[in-house]
Amino acid sequence: MVRRTLSVLSDLIASVAGLMFPQYCIFCGELAETLVCDDCAAKLTSVQHPICPRCGKPLKTGVARSECLHCSSHRWYVDTARALFVYEGEGRDALHRFKYGRRRGLARFFGRELSRQAGDLNRLGALFNWEFGEEPEMVVPMPLHWGKRFLRWFNQSELILKFYAPSLGLPAEPSVLKRTKFTHSQVGLTEPQRFVNVRKAFTVPKRAADRVRGKRILLIDDLVTTGATLNAAARALKDAGAKKVYALSFFTATLK
Ligand SMILES: [Zn+2]
Ligand SMILES: [Zn+2]
Repeated sequence: MVRRTLSVLSDLIASVAGLMFPQYCIFCGELAETLVCDDCAAKLTSVQHPICPRCGKPLKTGVARSECLHCSSHRWYVDTARALFVYEGEGRDALHRFKYGRRRGLARFFGRELSRQAGDLNRLGALFNWEFGEEPEMVVPMPLHWGKRFLRWFNQSELILKFYAPSLGLPAEPSVLKRTKFTHSQVGLTEPQRFVNVRKAFTVPKRAADRVRGKRILLIDDLVTTGATLNAAARALKDAGAKKVYALSFFTATLK
């Protein structure tokens, strides 16, 4: 209740502040309500086909429909993953400023781009190739450990989803998945180390088990690098009885 009131209050303050203090693009300085203007947003690198049908990363060579080497050598709990942009250049810079520079306001930009580029369930269906009856029934933001959330002040995926959920049209269920293990930064770890580092990092709380069992779930994440974190989260959901787990991320790191 307190958190909800605070959230309403911070939205109110943000909209009043928006009127009093106009926002400017973090890249070029033009007026931009979402902190990135349309011209600069157009510089983001879209994920181009062919992509790996499982993890959604752009394939460097090879034929569409064949899984990337990475996917064919791991056990995956994510049924299908898709990403919108490649993690490089201006996009990477914007995400850095959002997460580590605590530019909370950038959530509006990421959410708006998701609405424009990924759209509602119908458009997402084309991106994921869902057959009738395979569409997700709820959307879950990738959870952060409470300690990390405390340090950053917000969960970036949850905040992005707040601005995307209205056009997606799915119920958001942030409380069905918890991150119980405080993992050290994955930066600098090798790929096998990353998989070990996040193992058993997620759990579905007992009280949420009924909301997960038999359900088709869409996870939302800001960035997928190796997919280790995503895989661990999907595994926790599958262990709790989820029928399908899909993942949509804003950025993906390209395959090495
Ligand atoms: Zn700009
Ligand atoms: Zn793949």
